[in-house]
Amino acid sequence: MDAPDIGDRDTLGKLLRTNKRLARELSRIDTVFNAIQSAIIVTDKLGAIQFANNYAARVLGLGDSIQSIFKVLPGIETVFAEMDDSEALIRKEFEISYPEYRLLAAQIIPFDFGGGRNTFAVILNDITQEKRSTEEKIESEKLASVINLASGIAHELGNPLNSINIHLQLVKRKLAKLKEAGKLDAELLSAAEDSVSICSSEVSRLDGIIENFLKAMRPMRADLRECDPLKPLAETLKVLNGELLNMDITVLVNTDTALPAVYGDENLLKQLYFNILKNAIEAMSKGGSLTISATSDDDFVKIAFSDTGCGMDEDGISNLFQPHYTTKPDGHGLGMTIIQAIIRAHDGKIDVKSAQGKGTTITVSIPRKQRHVRMLDY
Ligand code: ADP
Ligand code: MG
Repeated sequence: MDAPDIGDRDTLGKLLRTNKRLARELSRIDTVFNAIQSAIIVTDKLGAIQFANNYAARVLGLGDSIQSIFKVLPGIETVFAEMDDSEALIRKEFEISYPEYRLLAAQIIPFDFGGGRNTFAVILNDITQEKRSTEEKIESEKLASVINLASGIAHELGNPLNSINIHLQLVKRKLAKLKEAGKLDAELLSAAEDSVSICSSEVSRLDGIIENFLKAMRPMRADLRECDPLKPLAETLKVLNGELLNMDITVLVNTDTALPAVYGDENLLKQLYFNILKNAIEAMSKGGSLTISATSDDDFVKIAFSDTGCGMDEDGISNLFQPHYTTKPDGHGLGMTIIQAIIRAHDGKIDVKSAQGKGTTITVSIPRKQRHVRMLDY
């Protein structure tokens, strides 16, 4: 195309009109972006901020002098680097302390801007409040009613189990009497005794399951103390061992040799691991591998669970933590809600990376010591 001849009045007029229209469009887009209560930032691969809406400027305390997103969201550079060559979608949590303490959930979207994935849109939502009110939320959400219902059923199961147990004791006593009297074939008797004792141990196993379930369903109040984060993990893996074998899933565990203790609640951690592992198993059809790696930094022990399952699409990753969000025909969509609540109760973080058809990595960061002593609560 030839360069417009600006000597030509017609062309000049057209250009001016287009220019005006573009300026109007731009100001409209600007108004919309600035009204949004999420931070929207566009940066290049090197972190240079090309656009930030008002909300972003306020939340991140962006002054005229701050031009790099790497300064305000430390750690995001590794995400950019990772996104360079993978199709993965990422939701990552960032904690910032300037201008005030906030927990931000980021979605990072790479896009082409003339030559490769060199531009990133970062959308940040402030979830600080959500974190603070997790306990109230859990009790008030629909979750509470489901929990009540389930606890009711579990409770009801207790009575018939009790009665079965009593009758098993009676059968045992009667068998013992028959044995004494020598009235029955010894072999037959010992087979009957074996069956009774199997029933007894199954009853106490069921009892244990119900008790644990009821304990797990009680409103969450974390009993945080120093503990080994791998102990509840090993116990959970043991519980799921049969299922993992059945599904032909190989489990690989890589842990740093001197993994420090965390400040956690072992029972809640078991529930956390259980829900993550269960989702990973359910995401993999027959066969697959599950890699668990544990590392630490100054503040956190980070445990990453990578599966080779179906992965998630954009819709999935955005709704992941919504109560009752599920993509499974018989799912309840409460696992991730419980996972998030447990993470919040620990003052930890959860990051998700997922690529459709390839797999998902869920990384939980559990604090090594008590954090954020609530100095602000007078
Ligand atoms: P449910 O397992 O009952 O569906 P969850 O809250 O545990 O409920 O999970 C919600 C949804 O998140 C799942 O239905 C699934 O779509 C998605 N999801 C969670 N973990 C994974 C995973 N490891 N791989 C793929 N999708 C997952
Ligand atoms: Mg689940």
